[in-house]
Amino acid sequence: MTDRYSVIGRPINHTKSPLIHGLFAEVTDQDLTYGAIEGSLDGFEDQVLCFRDEGGRGMNITAPFKLRAYELANERSERATLAKASNALKFEHGKIYAENFDGIGLLRDIEHNLQVPLAGRNVLVLGAGGAVRGAVLPFLAAGPARLVIANRDLTKARALAAEVNDDRLHVCGYDALVGQDFDLVINATSASLTGELPPVATAVFGHALLAYELAYGKGLTPFLRLAREAGVMRLADGVGMLVEQAAEAFEWWRGVRPETRPVIDRLTVPLE
Ligand code: NDP
Repeated sequence: MTDRYSVIGRPINHTKSPLIHGLFAEVTDQDLTYGAIEGSLDGFEDQVLCFRDEGGRGMNITAPFKLRAYELANERSERATLAKASNALKFEHGKIYAENFDGIGLLRDIEHNLQVPLAGRNVLVLGAGGAVRGAVLPFLAAGPARLVIANRDLTKARALAAEVNDDRLHVCGYDALVGQDFDLVINATSASLTGELPPVATAVFGHALLAYELAYGKGLTPFLRLAREAGVMRLADGVGMLVEQAAEAFEWWRGVRPETRPVIDRLTVPLE
């Protein structure tokens, strides 16, 4: 029987996940269907359970349901636990397993775009929301010299640092970035979704090798524009992260790893 998967979120009409997983299934010769469900704010949990009870094998979860998916699960990975958010569920052995692949997806795409190892680099991450919570453990595992997280709400960033407890992790407000520069600057705030720029000075880009924007489909965002003005040669948006996290989920569900670069190339829109 054909196995069923789906993404659930609200709104869901612009999702690229069915296209991505459809391409993965084609190239790996997996017998599955992958749909999209508009989530209900009142009935998200019932929708997930109903999908599972009708034979669904797994789901991707997108905004605004990642916390609720995490809470619904019976078994949670370490990454999902730190993030307190899940972007992928698996239904197996009568249980709901929660994972969070956003961080590892981001790391893989950054390593590809950076073209040099992340180990030993100075990394600045702007924002301390769900995506950053999911990314901290995979990033620290990649061996940066320093990982600095700047956020407007410092309490949120400090709470994250206290949970992780690693000497290489530093948190601060935007003012404290004055006089510092980094090899890699990542915009993991949601500012670009509303055309805003996080309050970051051009100087942080220093001799940065890459400026990375998690949002995708927005073209040259104010953050990427600032990075280009500062002379950063390599700019990337989050479409590669989206495909990489999807590949992680696909492998978790199916036991086969699809090739990601052809799919990323197909979905990439020039940043103009
Ligand atoms: P959250 O809502 O959890 O966190 C938002 C973060 O953005 C907070 O740290 C908030 O700061 C900060 N922020 C919002 N507006 C501004 C602003 N104007 N200036 C400075 N900081 C701001 O969002 P997520 O972590 O889930 O998502 C963050 C981004 O990542 C979004 O753009 C999202 O689309 C993208 N994303 C991309 C994915 C991909 O596959 N490419 C996957 C997941 C997310 P404060 O705490 O101070 O309010």
